[in-house]
Amino acid sequence: MAPAALADTTTMPAGHTQTYGTRKKIILLKPRGFCAGVVRAIDVVKIALDLYGAPIYVRKEIVHNRHVVDELRRAGAIFVEELAEVPEGARVIFSAHGVAPAVRAEAKKRRLQVIDATCPLVTKVHLEAVRFAKQGYTIILIGHRDHDEVIGTLGEAPESTVLVSDVEDVDRLNIQDPERVVYLTQTTLSLDETKDIVKRLLQRFPKIIGPKTQDICYATENRQLAVKAVAPLCQALLVVGSQNSSNSRRLVEVCEKAGVPAYLLDDCCEVQPKMLQNVDTVAVTAGASAPEHLVEELISHLQAKGYDELEEAEIKEEDVRFTLPSDLESFTPRLHAVRSGTLKTISKR
Ligand code: SF4
Repeated sequence: MAPAALADTTTMPAGHTQTYGTRKKIILLKPRGFCAGVVRAIDVVKIALDLYGAPIYVRKEIVHNRHVVDELRRAGAIFVEELAEVPEGARVIFSAHGVAPAVRAEAKKRRLQVIDATCPLVTKVHLEAVRFAKQGYTIILIGHRDHDEVIGTLGEAPESTVLVSDVEDVDRLNIQDPERVVYLTQTTLSLDETKDIVKRLLQRFPKIIGPKTQDICYATENRQLAVKAVAPLCQALLVVGSQNSSNSRRLVEVCEKAGVPAYLLDDCCEVQPKMLQNVDTVAVTAGASAPEHLVEELISHLQAKGYDELEEAEIKEEDVRFTLPSDLESFTPRLHAVRSGTLKTISKR
């Protein structure tokens, strides 16, 4: 249920918030929460469940959010870590984070019916990796080891790619042909940290090139910019998101870097008194995989604790949508019903 005051929220001009007196206040950041890639990935699972019935297998968490995964699990999705857990010939969805070609090959070998929910912005990075590797470049991939997305991208050109996660990793690099080097990045990195790493790369490899447009995605960028803009106006930031959500963790880091404490919460049950100690103004945002109802519940929770003023600080308008994967595109008109859960299942195995 939406908190009562949310309906009165004032959308402020980009980069501005408005203050009213000295009562305890919540600043609600915008944009926040679901990005286009996450909306699409969740839609894919819901449509697949609706069309084919349970069970539908999903390799890895469809998006990195515990609540989303639990909800889809209740609806009949079975989350597996590896394809070996999927029965031969069954239907499987690849998560928004993408997969390495070896995974696609395994799926083919086992005659799995694949629906690919990889975010198009992750696919963009994969295609860049393939192209640059073909052209004989060494690819320096900036990203976090062990993240599903990075594992997938690395798998596109493992012989040509090296991974760096910080400036020190760059210093340790030993590249055979420093004249022919390119960098790519994970889509959900910190803008500032990535800038530092790229700066060091340029010092070490003056001829290094980068992607035509930055790989860090619009959603990651916009949510970080909103945190940066609002950090000076609050004494604490609460970020709704799961611990394994890379873009959510970056929001916490960005705020902390600005000198303001920030906390990552799966939901309002995780709010602890110390987080709000001496906090008159608390900012609230959500990572790209966190559903809005969790934000609304957090707002209600804060309101019950005396934060009775609510402002929305809109830093940037965001209106990005992705089409469904081509094999599901014809079901686009049914999306509304699938999202709201009102569509009747049309066929079951
Ligand atoms: Fe795509 Fe960015 Fe969302 Fe990841 S965070 S799913 S790259 S839009």
